[in-house]
Amino acid sequence: MNKNANHSIKCTVDECKHHCCGENYCSLSCVSIGTHEPDPTICQCVDCESFVRSDGNCK
Ligand code: SF4
Repeated sequence: MNKNANHSIKCTVDECKHHCCGENYCSLSCVSIGTHEPDPTICQCVDCESFVRSDGNCK
């Protein structure tokens, strides 16, 4: 299992396959951030595009 916390990427989305199970960090070395809006104005307009739904191993 690839679960080494990258302490440069904080994340609380534990439904993601790349989330570190017991810690609120991502396990990837790099993530892609993007937007689904044509003119983003608030943080809710911005997405982690590296998200992959967890298979449930950490839950
Ligand atoms: S890929 Fe994105 S959503 Fe998934 S754990 Fe990493 S930062 Fe969080």
